[in-house]
This record gives sequence, C-alpha cells and structure tokens, in this order.
Amino acid sequence: MDGGAIIRSVMAFSGGMDSTGLLLRLLSDGHTVSCISYDYGQKHRIEIERAEKNIAYLSSHGISVEHRVVNLSSAVGLLHSALTTEDYQVPQGHYEEEQMKATVVPNRNAIFTSILYGYALSISIREDTDVEIALGVHSGDHTIYPDCRPEFYDSITESFALGNWGSERISMNLPYIDLDKEAILRDSLKSCESLGLDFDTVFTNTNTSYNPDSEGRSSGNSGADVERILAFHAIGRKDPVQYVDSWSEVLRGALKSQLRFHVMKENGTERPFTGEYDSHYEDGKYYCAGCGRKLFVSDDKFDSGCGWPAFSREADEAQIIQIKDTSHGMNRIEVRCSGCDSHLGHLFHESRGPRYCINSICLNFERD
Ligand SMILES: [Zn+2]
Repeated sequence: MDGGAIIRSVMAFSGGMDSTGLLLRLLSDGHTVSCISYDYGQKHRIEIERAEKNIAYLSSHGISVEHRVVNLSSAVGLLHSALTTEDYQVPQGHYEEEQMKATVVPNRNAIFTSILYGYALSISIREDTDVEIALGVHSGDHTIYPDCRPEFYDSITESFALGNWGSERISMNLPYIDLDKEAILRDSLKSCESLGLDFDTVFTNTNTSYNPDSEGRSSGNSGADVERILAFHAIGRKDPVQYVDSWSEVLRGALKSQLRFHVMKENGTERPFTGEYDSHYEDGKYYCAGCGRKLFVSDDKFDSGCGWPAFSREADEAQIIQIKDTSHGMNRIEVRCSGCDSHLGHLFHESRGPRYCINSICLNFERD
C-alpha cells in the first residue's frame, strides 16, 4: 500500500455512452480501474466489441484498464425482454412511452450489481485495499427503469454490506447521479482532453442502439438512439458513430421524435406554419402518429389560415375524445386520440362550423 492517492475502482462497462464517459472520468481522476462487460445475450452485442476496441485504444495511449467479459447469457436467457428474446421486437419511439417498458430486462441491475459487488470484495481482499464501485446512473434514467433509481442502489448496497465480511472497505461512487446525458458528454469531452484522447475515436467505439443492423450501424430511431442524438446535438457535435442514414437525416428524425413527444404527451403545440401537413392537400387519410388509429380524411381538410391542419369533421370511426380546456385563460375543447390518449389539438365551433385544429406532428398521412 502506498497509503495514498490512487483509488481502486470497479465498474460495469457496457460499451454505451454513460459507462464510457464514466470510465474516462475515473481514469482522468487517476483511478486504477477494473471493469466488467456483461454478455447477457443482448441483440446489441456489438456494444461489447466496441467496449473492447476502446480498451485497446486506451492501451495504445499507455492507459491500462483491466477488462473482463462475463458471460451471463444462459442465466439472462431465462428472462423475458425485447433486448434478449429473439421473436420480441425492440419498439421504436420515445423512452417514456409505455411501449419502451419492453426494453426492461427483469431484475437486470440487481444481477449486474451483485456480481460487481462480489468482484469489488475479491479485489479488496486480493490487493488489501479499499474499493469503490462506480456506477454511471444519472438523472435521465427513466421511470420505466426502477432499478436505475438511487434509492434502489442505497438499499441493495446495504443488503450486500449485511451479507458480507469486509464490506466496510467497499463504497459506492455515483458521480453522474445529478447529471443528464448532455452533461455526461460534456464531462467526457473534458476527460478526453485531460487524458490526451480523441473524443470522436472514443465515441465511435460505443453503441447505444438496441437494434443495430448486421453491419453494426444504428438505426437512429430507438428511444435510446434518439436520446443520444439529441445529446450530441445539444453539445454542438456530430455523433461519430455510424448510422444507417446521414447525420442530418437521423438528427431530423430525433428532433421530430422529441417534438412529437412534447406535443402528444405533454400537451404541447407545434409552432404555426411549421407543420408538415399545414398546407398539404393530397387525397388520402390521416392516422394517429402514436397508435395508427384513423382520425381524418382529406375530403374534410380545409385551409383555415391559422397555421395548423384544419378539418371540418373527424373520420367516422375516429371517436376522438373531447375535453374542456380552460388553460391559458381560454375556453377551448381539447381533442385526444381515443386509441392512445395522446393530445392532438383543439376543436373550435365557429360560424362556418366545427374546426379541428390539429398538430401535424400527431398525424401520419397515407395517400389513397
Ligand atoms: Zn392514437
């Protein structure tokens, strides 16, 4: 023991953005790091190959990190999730939508952290040192992942401490707990600078997509992809990882997904005269962008001049929900999709008749 400054750390290194950022942070803080990547039969196993590439890249810069790939695929194979089960599709769309719950792997973080804790204790005994378990959990971890909550980690660590000798030498380090994805990326930029690493190379060697194609390119349309794209956009950089489409194309898709979530799930409104279907008069049908329910037909669409698509009536089977809305000091009728309870816009009764004033972003058009 040198009695000193070097902190011994263990962490789970998935090959995603957060754990890569965490590894960089620990290294730039001078920690000696051992990390584990879990092979649990995930469809996006490419993340492990990328993790290995980054370990090799670090090594080429004289930074040595102990890295082990732990195979849990037969154990996690017992569990049901869109991330691991072959005939269960990974859903697209915004994270907080109900369908993203399909990406939960039952009890995953309890399983992973439990192994990490045993690993930390083993290093502590072998090297006669205190060990920190670093976790990349952050404030953007979602309500659909209850095993990402800090209170869960507090509680599970207390249980581990009760069940083991030597647990007083093990502590938890959650440096990202109050940060979001954007802040983690900014932190990673700083760490790369202080370690003399190329940020783009490091982040080329990561994967965030749950449904990469056979060449390992990200689709850009899973909830995790969208978050990542928006984080790079927020720090004013192009994501160096490979996508199926060009960066401008995937960025446009991510911004659209963000706006759609804001309008449909947070009762937002798109800016007037900006929507795709504002002045769009082809023959066809308009479907809910959330659930695909038929809402309007082009025969009933008219130019109201207000800046949003206007319809004089709804499609026969639409059964749009009407709710009295007194927000913003106005007396309006809010309209919502009866299929998925998403906000669509408002209904006004005017001298010329009813006007359904609908946000374009809530609609998908199909030509007749
Ligand atoms: Zn709907």
